[in-house]
Amino acid sequence: MTGPAILLLDGDGIGPEIVGATRAVLAAASDRFALDLRFQTATIGFAALDATGTTIDAAVIAQARVADGIVLGPVSHNAYPPVAEGGLNPSGTLRRALDLFANIRPAATRTGLPAPATMPFDLVIFRENTEGFYADRNLHLGPGEFMPDADTAMALRKISRRACRRIAEAGFAHAATRPAAHVTAVHKANVLRVSDGLFLEECRAVAAAYPAIRYEEVLVDAMAAHLVRNPACHDVIVTTNMFGDILSDLAGELSGSLGLAASLNAGSDHAMAQAQHGSAPDIAGAGVANPAALIGSAAMLLEWLGARRSAPALTRAGRAMAAALDAALANPATRTPDLGGRASTDGMARAVIAAMQG
Ligand code: ATP
Repeated sequence: MTGPAILLLDGDGIGPEIVGATRAVLAAASDRFALDLRFQTATIGFAALDATGTTIDAAVIAQARVADGIVLGPVSHNAYPPVAEGGLNPSGTLRRALDLFANIRPAATRTGLPAPATMPFDLVIFRENTEGFYADRNLHLGPGEFMPDADTAMALRKISRRACRRIAEAGFAHAATRPAAHVTAVHKANVLRVSDGLFLEECRAVAAAYPAIRYEEVLVDAMAAHLVRNPACHDVIVTTNMFGDILSDLAGELSGSLGLAASLNAGSDHAMAQAQHGSAPDIAGAGVANPAALIGSAAMLLEWLGARRSAPALTRAGRAMAAALDAALANPATRTPDLGGRASTDGMARAVIAAMQG
């Protein structure tokens, strides 16, 4: 079997710098573990808008569809022109086009790295990625936000049984591989009785199939407080799109910095590595962006590919990359300025590569 084809999409702002650093680490992992990774590139974001009139054109989506994995750099979609003028959000577009229904967002404190959390913790948020309040992807045709008159705006929150079932199944299947084997469903069913009621119904049905996993339900507002007060009491959190978006930023920051927060968008047939943070235009081009979140996301992609292709070398490579990232972050001399260090983006990548080879 030939090695996996990895499509690298630079994005905007610091995207080219952190995607470049991530590519260097993936190339080193490929050599070290004989993965034969084949890198492909395509242009998205402002660079594509100038060249093709859209921030992500159909050819890129087609390329993503046939790639084995995707690494997506951050995009400045808030600054794009309207959709009618080509300003599509590449992240939402790819999540929808490839049916990447699970946004898997780990957050864990690391030995040797200071964190705002009052205690060590290690949790993973499984955030539903295709519906909820996300107006750019929750309807078959047109956006889920509209104005019936000039002074009234409405947003539709879509919750389907199928989407709830599959995010719950993904969360429970992952929890079964973790020592704590504990799932918390996060909801607001006290006010969103019908939609979050449906979400809980599906979580409970999946919980019944996993009797060895401890299952509990927590209101989203209470969960925000729990994460600050006692993050160690949670393991796998399963939730709907917007709650997962917000709680994962909180958990990422508690673990040390949002600049460390990795994520994988996974579907049945495709997966896309993507840092949780944005394109940080304020530091773009300065060579100081922290590549840790995207490198960690790419490590998750290798692990996902390892499971999908039953290829232990890919699994080992993903784990080695994540461990090398931890080692580089534990050393103050190899940290980027956002973490109080003086290393450059490339310097951090070199430190990860050295730790992986050591
Ligand atoms: P966008 O419009 O793409 O969301 P933003 O700057 O509004 O960009 P973020 O990119 O999330 O939002 O950045 C928030 C702050 O965190 C900025 O000051 C940015 O410089 C910093 N930041 C984000 N990511 C990183 C990173 N990888 N390394 C260093 N600093 C970062």
